[in-house]
Amino acid sequence: MRIINVKDIEEAVSKVCMEINYNLREGMEKIIEEVLQKEESESGKEVLRQILENIAIARDEKIPACQDTGVCIAYVELGQDVRIEGGFLYDAINKGVANGYVKGYLRKSVVRDPFNRINTKDNTPAMIHVELIPGDKLRIKLMAKGAGSENMCKLAMLTPADGLEGVKRFVIDTVKEGGINACPPLIIGVGIGGTFDMVGWLAKKALFRGMNVRNKDEFYAKLELELIKEINDLGIGPMGFGGRVTALDVRIEVAPCHIASLPVAVNFECHAHRVGEIIL
Ligand code: SF4
Repeated sequence: MRIINVKDIEEAVSKVCMEINYNLREGMEKIIEEVLQKEESESGKEVLRQILENIAIARDEKIPACQDTGVCIAYVELGQDVRIEGGFLYDAINKGVANGYVKGYLRKSVVRDPFNRINTKDNTPAMIHVELIPGDKLRIKLMAKGAGSENMCKLAMLTPADGLEGVKRFVIDTVKEGGINACPPLIIGVGIGGTFDMVGWLAKKALFRGMNVRNKDEFYAKLELELIKEINDLGIGPMGFGGRVTALDVRIEVAPCHIASLPVAVNFECHAHRVGEIIL
């Protein structure tokens, strides 16, 4: 049994919240530089150049890469041989988020209740998902998720008769409808299977996967590549100004499902892709 004190979790979460808002996910700058070479539209190229300039300013001056510093999504993989001491895991994550957002002068974007709209003033609570895994490590992946891209997400309970074509059509139609408002170029998480509650999480979980890391199953890896091509053929382009570069990546996560169901969900992530990781 390994013991991890909540203080270590709080400190690490606080640090990562600041870091990811000043420095986009590792490798994002390089990817934008690469797609700039592929973009054919002049306005698309100009937008990508401005995105690169913005990334550099945020990194060098330690200011948020976007004014929407997001709600924190914490994806926790908790080793079953870990014991958390000194407090409750959820409280430690939330204390870390609160410290990071207050200390880092990051915008506080969370309201206590969907209707009273009173700001919690420290960006808590984080949206926390915990998965139990074998071993004695605690891994916390943190994402600062903006509302512009989150508001465009969609979920559908298709039927098995809709099949692969139905799933593809749903993904493409969702991008056609909302992609322009999600601040492209985008990373698109697709969940397929599970249940109503699970499929949304699968789509979100896909966004934590590394850049251009294909699904391990060849069938879904091929589908990811097909969707990237079809989405880029839509011509939405960087920030919707037209062009070849709409999707930087499409990632599919799947789960078993009921014989009568075919759930599918699309979770958009904008170019301000802010993800960091803590391993304790
Ligand atoms: S969608 Fe992303 S880039 Fe657009 S405003 Fe929100 S956080 Fe910023």
